[in-house]
Amino acid sequence: MTTSHRFVVRGGTIHDPANDRDGIVADIWISDGKIVGRPSDSASFGDVDATGLVVMPGGVDLHSHVAGPKVNAGRRIAPHLARHRTPGPAAVPTIHSTGALYAALGYTTVFDAAIATGAASIAHAELADLPILDKGIYLLAADDADMLDALAAGDGPKCERLIHEKISRGRGWAVKVANPGGPSFWKRGRRGDHHDLDTPLPDRPVTPRQILDRLARAVQAAGLPHPLHVHTANLGLPGNWRTLLETMRTFDGLPAHLAHVQFHSYAGGDLDEGSFGSGVAPLVEYFNAHGNLTLDVGQILFGDTVAMTGDSAAAEHLAHATGTPWMSHDLHLEGGCGVLPIAYKEKSLIHAWQWAIGLEWFLTAADPWRVALSTDHPNGAHFTAYPVLMQLLGDEAFRREALARIHPAVRKRSPLAGIRREYSLQELCIVTRAAPARIAGLSHKGHLGVGADADLTLYRPSPDLARMFSMPARVYKAGVLVAEDGEVKATPQGTTLTA
Ligand SMILES: [Zn+2]
Repeated sequence: MTTSHRFVVRGGTIHDPANDRDGIVADIWISDGKIVGRPSDSASFGDVDATGLVVMPGGVDLHSHVAGPKVNAGRRIAPHLARHRTPGPAAVPTIHSTGALYAALGYTTVFDAAIATGAASIAHAELADLPILDKGIYLLAADDADMLDALAAGDGPKCERLIHEKISRGRGWAVKVANPGGPSFWKRGRRGDHHDLDTPLPDRPVTPRQILDRLARAVQAAGLPHPLHVHTANLGLPGNWRTLLETMRTFDGLPAHLAHVQFHSYAGGDLDEGSFGSGVAPLVEYFNAHGNLTLDVGQILFGDTVAMTGDSAAAEHLAHATGTPWMSHDLHLEGGCGVLPIAYKEKSLIHAWQWAIGLEWFLTAADPWRVALSTDHPNGAHFTAYPVLMQLLGDEAFRREALARIHPAVRKRSPLAGIRREYSLQELCIVTRAAPARIAGLSHKGHLGVGADADLTLYRPSPDLARMFSMPARVYKAGVLVAEDGEVKATPQGTTLTA
């Protein structure tokens, strides 16, 4: 054991999908926070024995909510969920705990996926207190009036210039659009949470579809590392699978990332038992055939959490449907977010469908390289529940037991019962680090090749995948041992990732 800046992790079983290494025994050499080739002066390197351990790159969460006003609003609206509970951590832990918990879980990079441009400095101030991980933010640039004007005018160069300006001023990594045009409908008292993509905004001559198309082009022209990050319209509404399909069609070859698709894949016209269900099949068929698209799932897992979304209209709808107190937080009446506590229950028809729909996405999307594991933390579940999700994907018997506990109508009608696929360790490695790093545009992360950041997670192999992934034996961030058996060992300051 050593904490020297130069050491070798020796004899581990390597999972490094980006470099085609699938469970081979190899040594990883580390110098000054980077992975290096076998050095000529190897005698000066310390030695970490990883015999019998599984070695993966550090986890990368490309869609999470960890900072900014909405997270603090979550702590205010649900103070009982901001405290640690037994068992398990708080749904909305402090920013310091958030970093420590992620690191102890083997994650070394996180992106907050929804920061209003006007809240960027607040988010950065808060993220400065998030220890260990490298972190970045996606800016809700299309909520801003100047951007909407440029989009409505179809002025590509101006959109591109505004993106550069906002990304540079807000030190952002990517551009996110949440419910394109939705705030304009909503602010005028219309059902902004339930519009199609082709109705022009009440205040500008532009449709949500044009916003998506023009913004994706501008992001591509601006050369950002991550394509447009899309939370499309009609989140959470029955029948919204059509909106997601139309959204995918809109991009027609343009790169785009579809966020938390689980929340956008519902069949049915209303909330009655007969019609609500899964709209995944036609969506996944389209997705599988179109390599320009990537996604994260936004899986829900059963338990208490807090929903927080840049899509206030969706939060209002959900709050009214469930009779839950909620909060709408706004910034200069341009961007904002809705926040409300939520408890997902196995026996709830709707929650059971949401659970099954997320898993159906994971298990029918053909190419794991275009899929990132997420729960849209904390909307679908707390990130510390990722190991349970990994076991649901990698262990069919465990999944079948879980399926037996949920609402019987869903058990009967979801295609899940007939799906035999199990993710291999390599595929779990892809969806938790290699793919999200590649999708986010992080060339120095998500792999263990020479030149990569020395972000490594060492696991004790176990057939109990939830156990294996919930407590890594050791976690290194930039070559520093930051966690061991669930205990934080060091809290170095991570880097802010800016485009
Ligand atoms: Zn989100």
